[in-house]
Amino acid sequence: MLQGKTALVTGSTSGIGLGLALALAQQGARVMLNGFGDVAAAQDAVAATGAEVDYHGADMSRSDEVVDLVRATESRFGGVDILVNNAGIQHVAPVHEFPPERWDAIIAINLSSAFHSTRVALPGMLTRGWGRIVNVASVHGHVASVNKSAYVAAKHGLVGLTKAVALETATTGVTVNALCPGWVLTPLVQKQVEARAAADGVALPEATRRLLSDKQPSLAFTTPEQLGALLVFLCSEAASNVRGQAWSVDGGWTAQ
Ligand code: NAD
Repeated sequence: MLQGKTALVTGSTSGIGLGLALALAQQGARVMLNGFGDVAAAQDAVAATGAEVDYHGADMSRSDEVVDLVRATESRFGGVDILVNNAGIQHVAPVHEFPPERWDAIIAINLSSAFHSTRVALPGMLTRGWGRIVNVASVHGHVASVNKSAYVAAKHGLVGLTKAVALETATTGVTVNALCPGWVLTPLVQKQVEARAAADGVALPEATRRLLSDKQPSLAFTTPEQLGALLVFLCSEAASNVRGQAWSVDGGWTAQ
């Protein structure tokens, strides 16, 4: 379905980003990966689908490197047709104890990087008359949780950016939407499960059950594969009039 298209997925060496990159590659898209960690394993996993794959190590906290990532993808593959702004980090602390440098990093990586990649990738999409921008927000783009002020602010901002750019492109072949996952068991959340186990003095399975039952009524994690299937739908022609939506996949979290 996506043969001939090029996808750039930020933060795609693990977790959700890797799952999204794989879903696009399985549909025939060429993929530019980005992120830190086990780059070779991520590249091998995408290459195993038969798709063309490359990697760029841009640090998404730096606007010049975000611009370079988009430009390098255009040079390597001829354009960016599908832009998935997924890179993100978390830090948990009450606002009066929140380290200012952590605030700056979360806003830069989780929010500003999507502005920079969008402003650079969008003109090419408009020229070609087709594009998909999908921002990986969170349930925290809709609602808040304690001790996550920077993350909640960034994700609400990302949902706002999604809506604004969707309106600016509403009469074009470019659509802009957001995915809003609830808990997904990735390295980012594994750290929170471990922190909960330590805080409550319980084993990891019990900490996992408590984490889910606090917020996610299904008591099941959302999976990267489920998010990948939704992303593929948003890239389809059937979704060409889905614009400016922040689509929750959260086991009922925001229905409460
Ligand atoms: P993860 O830690 O597994 O993956 C994050 C990715 O971002 C990795 O590839 C990492 O290398 C990359 N990254 C981090 N800092 C970077 C930087 N400065 N420059 C470039 N890449 C960088 O986490 P994840 O859970 O897969 O999170 C992916 C996205 O999904 C994030 O935006 C996160 O906020 C969002 N999200 C996650 C959950 C969840 O429950 N896991 C829920 C809702 C939203």
